[in-house]
Amino acid sequence: MYWRLFVFFLFQVLAAILGWLFPVFHSEVITAVCASLVASYVWFLIDTLRGARLVRWLRKDDFSNPAFEAGFWGDVSDRIRRLMRARDRLAIESEGRLQDILAALQASPNGVVLLDSEWRIEWFNQTAADHFGFDARRDMLQHLGNLVREPVLASYLAAHDFLHDVVVPGRRSTASNPIKLSVHIHSYGEGRSLLLSRDITALEQAEAMRRDFVANVSHEIRTPLTVLGGFVETLQSLPLNEQEREKYLALMAQQADRMQTLVTDLLTLSRLEGSPLPPTQEWVTLSTLLEQCEHDARALSGLLWKDPQTISFDVEEGCQVSGTATELHSALSNLISNAVRYTQGDRSITVTWKRRAEGGALFCVEDTGLGIAPEHIARLTERFYRVDRSRSRDTGGTGLGLAIVKHVVQRHGAELTISSELGKGSRFAIAFPEHRVRDLMSA
Ligand code: ADP
Repeated sequence: MYWRLFVFFLFQVLAAILGWLFPVFHSEVITAVCASLVASYVWFLIDTLRGARLVRWLRKDDFSNPAFEAGFWGDVSDRIRRLMRARDRLAIESEGRLQDILAALQASPNGVVLLDSEWRIEWFNQTAADHFGFDARRDMLQHLGNLVREPVLASYLAAHDFLHDVVVPGRRSTASNPIKLSVHIHSYGEGRSLLLSRDITALEQAEAMRRDFVANVSHEIRTPLTVLGGFVETLQSLPLNEQEREKYLALMAQQADRMQTLVTDLLTLSRLEGSPLPPTQEWVTLSTLLEQCEHDARALSGLLWKDPQTISFDVEEGCQVSGTATELHSALSNLISNAVRYTQGDRSITVTWKRRAEGGALFCVEDTGLGIAPEHIARLTERFYRVDRSRSRDTGGTGLGLAIVKHVVQRHGAELTISSELGKGSRFAIAFPEHRVRDLMSA
């Protein structure tokens, strides 16, 4: 800067000396002063032109080459160039950081919506788009309340009490397939807000199932308990003869058995849910297992029906299944005992076990009994789901048999298929995968 001032004054002094040496006017002093003034204007003009060049260079926004190579203006343009490069670097770094943060928000399993102080949408991730049906091109800067028209959300926003969340239906929610979203707003920055949405449908369903399960178990236990209590009261208060006492005690034993069966089934279910998957290196011989089932089925048929059913077992010998014997026994015997319980006395039941041409093996129970209407079939494996409650209870059912079968089948990598025609009969089949089946010979 000092050097520049020095050159400026030197330039003027030289002009003044030249004016003095070669006077144009009648006085050397006036010529020297005028020459010095002209030199200042020339200096000013050159500087203005250089300044204009610098402005043009700045407007181009391309700082790869300096506007001036050297001198004062070279220095200025070089410094500007360095500042601009530092700014660009900073902008690139900030942009990279912003993209990283947005990518992290995008990867969030929750819906994320950034809102300005007027509840206008500034950004949202794909999960939020799926939850609320937002469109990135259409809905940016739209008011949240215009896009999610739920009264509960409108009053939530109006109340400004964001300590808790609210539950709103999801975009694809229908009466038959309700979707529930938990929406929670968190304030940040100057009046801005972050909206987090979470799909809680499965959670709510699990909670509803848990409530139903507790209610069902209580109901199932309360009924025999009430009956038992009644009999105890009768025995205590009425003078009964031996025959009557025997009759009441037999009825009490029946109710106690019912509770016992229910508790056993509940324990079986909880064991199935809590224990590790069945081993693949332990082998169970199917014919032995089915001999026991056949014996039990015939005994049950004799007990339930005056005219026992014709039960035929067609079992391919020499075949083994890998898994847990008790679980497999429980599943197969449940299907067979259901066939006995839901088939009239004089009808027939066929149980088959066969290797399949495509690999694996098929266990199948076919009956010619009551059959099941199509609308019930998908729900049969739900806990406590019964088509005919009184028939189930009268024959000692707990409503848990097919739920147990479903669990065992899943745990063994097998598949359960149910087909039935009302009034004609039902077919329950379990297809075991190839890796769980082998011939005894190859053992
Ligand atoms: P339950 O103890 O009531 O038999 P399950 O879970 O074993 O419970 O079966 C659920 C329901 O499915 C039964 O209540 C019955 O209505 C129906 N069901 C099961 N097996 C048969 C069958 N072989 N024929 C007709 N209905 C059946």
